[in-house]
Amino acid sequence: MKRASMEIYCCPVCKSDLELRPEKEEGDEVIQGILFCQKCSHGYKIEDSIPNLLPKQQSVL
Ligand SMILES: [Zn+2]
Repeated sequence: MKRASMEIYCCPVCKSDLELRPEKEEGDEVIQGILFCQKCSHGYKIEDSIPNLLPKQQSVL
């Protein structure tokens, strides 16, 4: 995901803004890292440049 696309993402549970905690970046692209919701104290993984914003208990369809 692009760093700039942070603005379109919010927490799927509480709709708060997420904090970006990049672990691996290439230019303005975040390859791996965490989108963290401070309100829920829950981090959503970014893997292979794709943020996984599914709430904890929801299964992948
Ligand atoms: Zn939240």
